[in-house]
Amino acid sequence: MFDPSKAIQDMQEFGEFGGVNPSITDSSTYTFMTPERMKELFDHEIEGCFLYSRHWNPINKNLAQALAGLEDSEAAQVTASGMAAISCTILQLCGSGDEVLCSRTIYGGTYALFKNFLSRMGITVRFINVYDPEVVKQSITERTKVIYSESISNPLLEVADIPTLAEIANQHEIKLVIDNTFSPMIISPLRLGAHIVVHSMTKFINGTSDCVAGSICSSAEFIQQLTDVNSGATMLLGPVLDSARAASILKNLHSLHIRMKQHSHNGMYLAKNLEDLGFKIFYPGLSSHPQHELMAQLMNEDFGFGGILAWDVGDEAKANELMTAMQQENVGYLAVSLGYFKTLFSSPGNSTSSEIPVEERAQMGLSNGLIRLSVGLDNDIQATLERIKTSLNKVALL
Ligand code: PLP
Repeated sequence: MFDPSKAIQDMQEFGEFGGVNPSITDSSTYTFMTPERMKELFDHEIEGCFLYSRHWNPINKNLAQALAGLEDSEAAQVTASGMAAISCTILQLCGSGDEVLCSRTIYGGTYALFKNFLSRMGITVRFINVYDPEVVKQSITERTKVIYSESISNPLLEVADIPTLAEIANQHEIKLVIDNTFSPMIISPLRLGAHIVVHSMTKFINGTSDCVAGSICSSAEFIQQLTDVNSGATMLLGPVLDSARAASILKNLHSLHIRMKQHSHNGMYLAKNLEDLGFKIFYPGLSSHPQHELMAQLMNEDFGFGGILAWDVGDEAKANELMTAMQQENVGYLAVSLGYFKTLFSSPGNSTSSEIPVEERAQMGLSNGLIRLSVGLDNDIQATLERIKTSLNKVALL
């Protein structure tokens, strides 16, 4: 059994003066004892040697190593946002004339980047139903370079069949890129055959909603390509993660395993109870979820089905009233984003999925009455349910 927390637990990195945390790099540039050594480093990476902090810096390297351990990859790179991780990955893999096949249920920012921005660079993105392998197979052309999906989709919580997608990608010698933002530790896409995993570390991995950050985990060869001084997307587009932030994310990463278990425990509790009250709930831990069995096969043991659930209350007006009442009752905050220690809720149709045209949202089953809940770490989740019930009563939904 693979334990995604093990490599992080096994890390031992002393700070400069023996501190229990590695030192924060407070330099953008690094000295060399000889000009020849500097030239050598420009020609190729030298273990333990640093050139310039946009390329690599020590604390970012520590964080990247921890993330490689989390995803069981040969190597990793950290970036200043999840969007930087996604855009650098795609721009490294694709150029003008190339094509990406992307899941039609996807985070709105990714959708906007793919639809509106990549097209300006001559990269075509086709949005398809990646949950149907036949559709994926039939959509591949000789221009296709990438299949792109979220492991668990935002906001409808559909579960990607990563092994099947990987098999198709391998048959055509193209790359399968998976955004694992919703399910760190729960799903290990590279172990299931994906080639590259991206994360918005802004969410669960950091867990304190105090910064924006991203990561890319893959083969040593791909990370080397990304950081190449002459042709690497992370080096040349420059989305470097600030080292003070890297240090704080690394500390938070050490509690990720405990947090994921609690998020999942609370998510399952609310999903079950809200479904029992008669509501339409999307949560992969429920047997009513179309990919519940698939998720059970793909997931690592012990970390549950995750902390995100989607709840369809019918229409936009009701969703808005309910979210207002839930904030008043201190169920959590009416805010976008997820993976925070407090519960966050928002209506994707009016926020994180608003980039997706209404007709396409209707096709994918994303109603304006949908509320996405990122369930917090509440120790007393029964009390949270009572607050939700009070909110439901207030708006006459119970
Ligand atoms: N991927 C997913 C699934 C997301 O939900 C988000 C943000 O909400 C992103 C990527 C983008 O990450 P960031 O906001 O860190 O750039």
